[in-house]
Amino acid sequence: MAEKINKDFTDQGHGQDEPTRKRMTPEEEPEMRGAIFDMMKKQSGKEPEVQVIEIGDSVVCDWCGKDYTDPPESLKGGGLLFGSKACCPECAPRVKRSAKACSEESYIKGYCPDGMTFKNWVLELRGGKNQIKVYTF
Ligand SMILES: [Zn+2]
Repeated sequence: MAEKINKDFTDQGHGQDEPTRKRMTPEEEPEMRGAIFDMMKKQSGKEPEVQVIEIGDSVVCDWCGKDYTDPPESLKGGGLLFGSKACCPECAPRVKRSAKACSEESYIKGYCPDGMTFKNWVLELRGGKNQIKVYTF
């Protein structure tokens, strides 16, 4: 699976150099510690291998997969954050309705501010961490 993701990004021109792949120490990856992580680590008996994929300023909707990296999509405003997933302006109304119907409105963590593009909002939310990490146990 890691190879597939990497290949897709490379094919789209989002990949830069060959992704780095190494074993991380707990000190290097403190934000990844948690129950599932610990269970997987216990099963494998070792630290996971981490593949880091640099995605630069690529912005893709976590719901529909539409690419908002380049114009005209990159100029559109709107969208919301559901948990840690960025939901594009087109998907936002549907996701908002669905969240309300399922009493999951508390998962909506924020809305793209007026006057800001979805792309710039997502880049701001990432805070410069423009990476996808693939953990292999
Ligand atoms: Zn979408």
